[in-house]
Amino acid sequence: MNLNLSTKCPLCGFPSLTCNNNGFELHKCQNCGLVFKNYIYFQNANQEKERYDKHSTNPDAGYLKSINDFIALAIIPLQNVITVLDYGCGRIGYLGTRLADAGYRVSMYDLYYHSDKLALEKQYDLVTLVEVVEHFQNPEIEFTNLCQLIKKNGYLAIKTQFVPKELNNWWYIRDITHYCFFSDQSLLYIAAKYGLDIIYNDHIQTIVYQKK
Ligand SMILES: [Zn+2]
Repeated sequence: MNLNLSTKCPLCGFPSLTCNNNGFELHKCQNCGLVFKNYIYFQNANQEKERYDKHSTNPDAGYLKSINDFIALAIIPLQNVITVLDYGCGRIGYLGTRLADAGYRVSMYDLYYHSDKLALEKQYDLVTLVEVVEHFQNPEIEFTNLCQLIKKNGYLAIKTQFVPKELNNWWYIRDITHYCFFSDQSLLYIAAKYGLDIIYNDHIQTIVYQKK
């Protein structure tokens, strides 16, 4: 097996195994369970922006329901949350807007659409990552930086599609801006590495951590 830099896990640094094709060279980390695309598929900033610009500014009912469900299941039950950072809020910022309507004090950040660096110089009771972590090219650095934005006992609520048992023909891999896919093992690894407790996990698409 050829273990080189291209197969080093971007979450934990261990060498990984090529695991599947799906039209892409994928790797699975034996240490943290992350499934990730080889870096040769990484899009540059212009390519990513071009792709995100094609996302509708008029989202369909299914998208709106998924966000509303996320708020109801993952956010409303959290205690002592006033300030929220909607990180990777996208062009329309639907989640952040809904949370502001619900009375939270919301800041929004998005690399391409709301690049407000001041928002990254505060700490929050809650940081949300909705359909964001699959776009990370370097999750180790991203999670390190994000955890610094959460107050002690604050929360990190994530929505993405977790790795299913069968990777063949998994639709989530086909998006050219999706690079990292998290298994239950990866979610546990993140908890241990970053000093977080898992307080909610539906094992499909939503997890909520609390910072110790
Ligand atoms: Zn790993």
